[in-house]
Formats: sequence, structure tokens, C-alpha cells
Amino acid sequence: MVRAEMRTLALATVVAVVTVASACGDDGSSTTPDAPVAPITPTPNPARGISETKLSFDVTTFAATAQITFEPSTAPGATLEVGDLTLDTVQQGGAALAFAVKPGTNVIDLALDASDAPVTIDIAFHYKNHTGFAGAAAAGYTFLWPYYCGNLFPCHSQPRDGLAMTLAVTGVPAGKIAVFPQTIAEAPSYQLAWSIDAYTELPLGTTAAGTQVSVWYRPTELALAQTGTANLVAAFQWLEQTIGPYRFGNKVGTVSVKWGPGAYGGMEHHPLWHVSAGSLDSQETNVHEAAHGWFGDGIRIECWEDFVLSEGTVTYLAGRALDVVAPTVGAAVWQSYASELAGIPGTDKVWPQSCGTVDILKDDLFTNAPYMRGAFFYRGVALKVGADKVDQALHTFYMAHAGKTAHMADMLDTIKTVTGYDATACAATWLTSTTTPTPGACP
Ligand SMILES: [Zn+2]
Repeated sequence: MVRAEMRTLALATVVAVVTVASACGDDGSSTTPDAPVAPITPTPNPARGISETKLSFDVTTFAATAQITFEPSTAPGATLEVGDLTLDTVQQGGAALAFAVKPGTNVIDLALDASDAPVTIDIAFHYKNHTGFAGAAAAGYTFLWPYYCGNLFPCHSQPRDGLAMTLAVTGVPAGKIAVFPQTIAEAPSYQLAWSIDAYTELPLGTTAAGTQVSVWYRPTELALAQTGTANLVAAFQWLEQTIGPYRFGNKVGTVSVKWGPGAYGGMEHHPLWHVSAGSLDSQETNVHEAAHGWFGDGIRIECWEDFVLSEGTVTYLAGRALDVVAPTVGAAVWQSYASELAGIPGTDKVWPQSCGTVDILKDDLFTNAPYMRGAFFYRGVALKVGADKVDQALHTFYMAHAGKTAHMADMLDTIKTVTGYDATACAATWLTSTTTPTPGACP
């Protein structure tokens, strides 16, 4: 939905005058320095990536600012998703920057010139609260996955376009605190979040790498928080020592969020990931969200079709980490996974063999199948070659792709290279067949 205010702004002309380099002239005589040049017009360029976005939100007035730095581009223009934001001003270097709403969409194109250097623009805007996990919520949390970042700030929702982010939150009501990271290293847009509530921070400990782990709980939740995070420091340390260095700072933890009755699970808002109050006492959920710091966040998926590379890997890692640091808990987690697997229709999609054509929500890829069938695929490889060998493959994969994107197909290559085992046939049964295999070692 596009606001009328934006259309008004779009019509208010003009921009910085563009200097045309002589090499771009097509008449062979364009060396006159003062030749009149038409201002560049708003131009689509969705491929021009965002390298950094600095965000500031006032949660009382719903006023916000975004300073967005685009990557260099040999083609002009840029494109942003703006959801149902009200754009107040769009500027480059303090002057109005022309933009145009793509008809029938919540996307704007910008009148940016091509540039071999990064280009920064400033947008002042107002945002709205949303229900149904599609932006900021009146209950105090934000939730942007998979493609609702545009309802909170101008963005690219595709996880392949990672960006650094900074965040400031003001206007927090008395008696409450906002829990959020001030900086996030290169990450998908949906990783950014805050949660505002009457929080108490419980420090849990510090890993050998110096990462301080905490849990933020709400009144009456202390016991649930202690239960759910009983092995969180140990699991986080195992991930650091086994998979590789954590990318999102040295203070991390679980934030209990009021998603509402019947809402379970969590969201990988690293470094301060969210866990629904209804799952706060689940060790599996706490470690699952922590493990996304390596897969899903630390390594971004290239296409939504690679969803299993995020969720399947992390579901496996939660079970594997707990197997090592708390074997009784780990065994119970694998039992619960097996129960969940038994309830999944065999025809549910796990790993569609395309890139960029599946809508993760509308095409029903967001089910339990990528989670559980993905986890049991890795489990099958581990039972075949040894869990320590799979750990080594995941470490090699992380060191090669951290801060970048990857495909699930890349993982099969790495497993073969590191373990010597070709998992192609096993992946076919677990990840692309339309019948649910029986858990066990890969053939
Ligand atoms: Zn997950």
C-alpha cells in the first residue's frame, strides 16, 4: 500500500544536476563543461545493493530516519521497498532526491546516478504498528521476516542483500526498557529488531571466546528463563569453538517476547534473538535461535529455496550442540524431532530446485518440513561418517561463507570434500523426495 504523501513528494521535481563524463557522450564532442544536462529521473535498479543503513526510531511518535548507503553501481537508479511507510523527506546531500512509486507496488525507484563509490541518502518517515507479524507490533516487539522490513524502514527484503545496520530507539515508555543491538554486522534486513517491555537482564556467563550471554525476561518469567537457558552458554561456546568465530559482537542473548497466546518458537534477531514467552523454557528453542548466528544470519541464504540451509542446519545444530553439552537434553530433543517428523506430510516442500521463484509464504515452503527433514538429513550423514566429521564440514562451510550467501548445493559439495562421502543420494531422499524417509544412517 502506498501513501498519497509519497506521490506528492515524487512529483515535486528535481535533483542534483548530473555531471556527464565525456566518455558517455554519444556525439563525440561532449567536452563542453557547461553543457546543459537533463536531471536523472527515478530509475529502477533493484540489483544495486545496500551496504549500510543507520536507523533511528521514536516509538512514541512513530517518526523515524534512515540513512542508507548504496553500493557502487555502473547503472543508474536504485530501488527500495517501503511497505506502508509514510515518506516525509527523501534527500541526497541535503537536497531533495526525486523518486517515484512503482505503480501498484510498495516499491520506490530513486533518481540516483551511477557511481563507482558508495552513495548515501537520507529518508525521514513515519511507520505504523502491524498485527500478524508484519512489522512493529503494539505489544512492543518488531518482526520483519520474511519480507516485511519495508513496513519498518526502507529496505531490500531479499536475504542475499546483506547490510550493516545501526539502530537507535527512543520514546520508550517509563517503566520499560528497549532491548536491541546498536550495531549489526552484515546481515539480512529481517535480522534487525527491538523489543520493549519491563525486562530484567539475567547474565548467564561468558564463553571462552569472551562472549557474554544473558537472558532478558519479563515479570514472572525468571524460572522459565532459567530452565530454557540452562545450557545456553555451553552450547554457544560449543558453536564458537566448533563452527567458527561469532560475527555479531561480544554480548548476546535471548529476549523473551510477548508474541501472544499460542505463539511458540523464536526469531533469529542476532545478537539479541527473540524467543516467544511460550517457548522461553525450551532449551531447544533457545539453542536453535542462537545457532542462527552461524547459519541464516552469519551465512545468508542466496534464495528462499535455500531455506533448508538455514533452518535444517540450525535444527540439526541445536540437537548436536545439546548432544555434546547436555546429552540427556540432546536425546530428548532428537526424540521430539522424530515425533514432529512423523507428523509432516511427505509431500511438503523441503528444498525446491529453483532460485528466486518460490514465495516462501504463499508457496508453502514455511512448514516444519525444511526444519525436520533437514535436521535428519545431517543426522543421517553424521550416523554414516561420524558426527565429528559433520562438525568439520560445517566449520569449513562457515569459514568459507561467513558474511556472504550460500546455496544448499554448496553444502553438499563441502560435505563431500571434507568427509569424503557423497551425500547426493541421501539428500535426494531427505530433501527432494515426496515421501518421508525413516531416520537413520545415510546409505
Ligand atoms: Zn530457525
